[in-house]
Amino acid sequence: HYNFCAGPAALPTLVLERARDELLDYQGRGLSVMEMSHRSEAFVAIAERAEADLRELLAIPDHYRVLFTQGGASLQFAAVPYNLLGAGGTPNFLHTGIWGKKAISEARHLFGAVHLAASSEENGHSAVPRQEDIVLSEDAAYLHYTANETIGGLEFDYIPEARRPDGTPVPLVCDMSSSLLSGPLDVSRFGVIYAGAQKNIGPAGLVVVIVRDDLLDQARGDMPSLFGYKTLSEAGSMVNTPATYSWYLAGRVFDWLQRDIGGLAAMDAINTRKAARLYAAIDGSGLYANPITLRNRSRMNVPFVLADPGLDRPFLEEAEAAGLLNLKGHRSVGGMRASLYNAVPEAAVEALIDFMADFEKRHG
Ligand code: PLP
Repeated sequence: HYNFCAGPAALPTLVLERARDELLDYQGRGLSVMEMSHRSEAFVAIAERAEADLRELLAIPDHYRVLFTQGGASLQFAAVPYNLLGAGGTPNFLHTGIWGKKAISEARHLFGAVHLAASSEENGHSAVPRQEDIVLSEDAAYLHYTANETIGGLEFDYIPEARRPDGTPVPLVCDMSSSLLSGPLDVSRFGVIYAGAQKNIGPAGLVVVIVRDDLLDQARGDMPSLFGYKTLSEAGSMVNTPATYSWYLAGRVFDWLQRDIGGLAAMDAINTRKAARLYAAIDGSGLYANPITLRNRSRMNVPFVLADPGLDRPFLEEAEAAGLLNLKGHRSVGGMRASLYNAVPEAAVEALIDFMADFEKRHG
């Protein structure tokens, strides 16, 4: 079976096998990782190794802190403004789809004014705003955007510049839930990066936050203490009991990326091939279509529609019977979506393409 779920997504089979082999007894300690104290020497070693591996994978500069926190990416929609609005100012946003909109709604709900620096709403979220169309407010506190819109299948092909109209730079904040670790990244361009784990990192619930250390002192005084990047950082992400098992599995995934795949450049090449193969099959067919501008097509989430929506059901039923799971599009947009995260092997894409061609021959 191949799992094309958008999230929680497939985990690498090798990682699951390794976790299985040490599920009951972690390296001869007679305990499962799940049962260990987060303060134990064994768990602290797991946690430190996970951070070190992530730092190596992404070449994270020393002046960035890495946090392993909880509450899903959605909790960061609140945590980001709490952490960055201590000196006032207005949160600025790029609106490119459903996840960006949720981040905007949460900031507005909590703190009132937000500024839309650019939006792709006018083009139906089929192309991201260009740099020259991004206009921050005079009092911008930061600029937030969503690198890859998981539902729309719309991905930035560049890292935006975040400057007020007078040229003052402000922190760039990015929700990378569905793209972090899909390839190399210049972390130094960002103030805050966050990602829910359940796509390319590990189990749902865990969140990775990468924050530049000069931003640790920008928080509002009324912030819930568990939201605080500084508090989390000073406590080694152990303010309360962390999601220990998820953290351990994330570490296993980092290890797999580094040592089995060969790092993010190698992962990037695989992901580019997978997406190119699937988009070519869609574009070359008479039955399937994807509406996104070429340069903004997501490598991780490939939505497509069938020319006859009456075929949606048979497509999904036959796909499932063929072992191709979770291809149904998000309930808000319909159609199909194939998510091609790191753990989805190239053979899965080949199997999907073969199935799609065969289905078109029979029904097209
Ligand atoms: N942001 C993006 C881009 C997502 O794809 C998702 C979810 O799946 C979220 C945020 C929300 O993540 P969570 O469910 O962990 O809160």
